[in-house]
Amino acid sequence: MKVVITGAAGFVGSHLTDRFLRDGHEVIGVDNFVTGHKENLAHLASESRFSFVEADVSEPLKVAGPIDGILHFASPASPIDYLEKPFATLKVGSFASHYLCDLAVEKGARYFLASTSEVYGDPLVHPQVEGYWGNCNPNGPRSVYDEAKRYAEAVTMAYHRYHNLDTRIVRIFNTYGPRMQPRDGRVVSNFIVQALNGEPLTIYGDGTQTRSFCYVDDEVEGLYQLFMKGDSQPTNIGNPDEYTVSELATIVKELTSSNAPIEFRPLPQDDPKVRKPDITRARAMLGWEPKVPVREGVARTIEYFRTLLGSSRMTPRDAQGELVGSAR
Ligand code: NAD
Ligand code: UDP
Repeated sequence: MKVVITGAAGFVGSHLTDRFLRDGHEVIGVDNFVTGHKENLAHLASESRFSFVEADVSEPLKVAGPIDGILHFASPASPIDYLEKPFATLKVGSFASHYLCDLAVEKGARYFLASTSEVYGDPLVHPQVEGYWGNCNPNGPRSVYDEAKRYAEAVTMAYHRYHNLDTRIVRIFNTYGPRMQPRDGRVVSNFIVQALNGEPLTIYGDGTQTRSFCYVDDEVEGLYQLFMKGDSQPTNIGNPDEYTVSELATIVKELTSSNAPIEFRPLPQDDPKVRKPDITRARAMLGWEPKVPVREGVARTIEYFRTLLGSSRMTPRDAQGELVGSAR
């Protein structure tokens, strides 16, 4: 197969690119580096089945020749990123979804949307099943991301219903692992980087809110299987093992042997109180389930950050002494 992956220079997109290449497929990666990094694709420099286009997919994209799939992963995804880039986030969920679905229709390609557990908002159903419509604030600060993704799902289903486009929608739950940015503000990377630097671990709110963390290799395997074997209905892909944010801080401190203190900071507006995927559908349809326990995945991620922090690969934001997360 020959597939286009938007957001290929990002955290998940770069691992997904590797997964397709591993099975002998060809990948055209597209990215504008708004939150992604060239280094995430550096290992593919001499890979003949990989090519790269630097482009903003919120503008129409031209691709020469036949393609079999378009996987739309481009979007700021960390809360600090989408709060810093609200309009780019809204556009890549809306305009880009239309342009890329049009391209998929033109090419007769399968279209795969990276949606998110954020479409469930601050959920009143727990764990979250795909049939749950969610509890989102349509105009709160997070709406630039949540509503863009909800709109992107609507676009995808409309192209499926009205243009007979072969589509997939995945709802990705909190994913972590190597190639996350050290200062992108997400909780796993924040805690690990803070612990390794001997800085206080910043817990927003009282730390009783929960998330369910999926190691990136497990996540990407689920995405790949969904692309190959799934159907057009939205599908949760994530790890149902649920932890409070305080429990995660304890795990990170243990695994890094850190004595860093905990610093409590205000809870961002509309921060979901609980989150856990029901993956019954993915298990039954794809025969997939996550394998990497959180302690093992976090340990691997700590090793990645240890190496990264010891190298010179730091962005301007990385170099700031203070994490930006609490400024949300
Ligand atoms: P990321 O920020 O690391 O990657 C996103 C990539 O998209 C970046 O390389 C960025 O430069 C690129 N991009 C953004 N806007 C673009 C545009 N207009 N044109 C071209 N490229 C653009 O984030 P990620 O964590 O890898 O997330 C990837 C996708 O998965 C996103 O769509 C996100 O919403 C979804 N997702 C991720 C998670 C998670 O836990 N990582 C959870 C739910 C959903
Ligand atoms: N969080 C935290 N400290 C941090 C970063 C995040 O306590 O330094 C909390 C955040 O408020 C949320 C959870 O951890 O309750 C997960 O946040 P993240 O930004 O990783 O992802 P989200 O699920 O909010 O998109």
